[in-house]
Amino acid sequence: MMKKKSSILQKMANVTQTCNNCSKQFLIIDAEQAFLQKQGIPLPFMCPACRQARRTMLRGERKLYKATCQQCGKEIIVGYDPATVTQTILCREDYDKYYEENDPIIKEPLQEF
Ligand SMILES: [Zn+2]
Ligand SMILES: [Zn+2]
Repeated sequence: MMKKKSSILQKMANVTQTCNNCSKQFLIIDAEQAFLQKQGIPLPFMCPACRQARRTMLRGERKLYKATCQQCGKEIIVGYDPATVTQTILCREDYDKYYEENDPIIKEPLQEF
């Protein structure tokens, strides 16, 4: 009994979710939960395979635009029309830096595609 309880406790950090799309169960490991929490993103409701499929689909329908990183001035490719957004547009490196130094929930910068 004791043995079983401790093994459950050890695995408690991982969450099993049921995919909204294909109803398969998938695991969100504690590191991923911590990452999502840090970014202020809710836990995913679709399994990695469905999320990947949706991303690919979105990407296929999406146009790519050239934009300029507002931090370092580098030309980057983005998945949104830079003329239609009000957020700061950042390249990958500056985006990562931003998340380390700022609160992403208050101001959401847009990342390089
Ligand atoms: Zn799925
Ligand atoms: Zn930059």
